Amino acid sequence: MRKIRCISCSSEHSIDVTAEQMAELSKRPRRLIQDICPNLSTDEREILISGICGVCYDEMCDELEEEEEKELNLF
Ligand SMILES: [Zn+2]
Repeated sequence: MRKIRCISCSSEHSIDVTAEQMAELSKRPRRLIQDICPNLSTDEREILISGICGVCYDEMCDELEEEEEKELNLF
């Protein structure tokens, strides 16, 4: 179990990963995270890879979509 703090909202998340899994994740090229940590949810995988929790990740995606819509409206 590891505590990882979201780099965006600073909330702390307890992620159930072993030292072996963390070592695998830092290797390059990295195997697919769903192969390394099949027990984790997509949100938990997200914070492991990018340091951003699922909530912030969703918000970022929403903002990107809004920006794309604005650009479309220019034409
Ligand atoms: Zn967050």
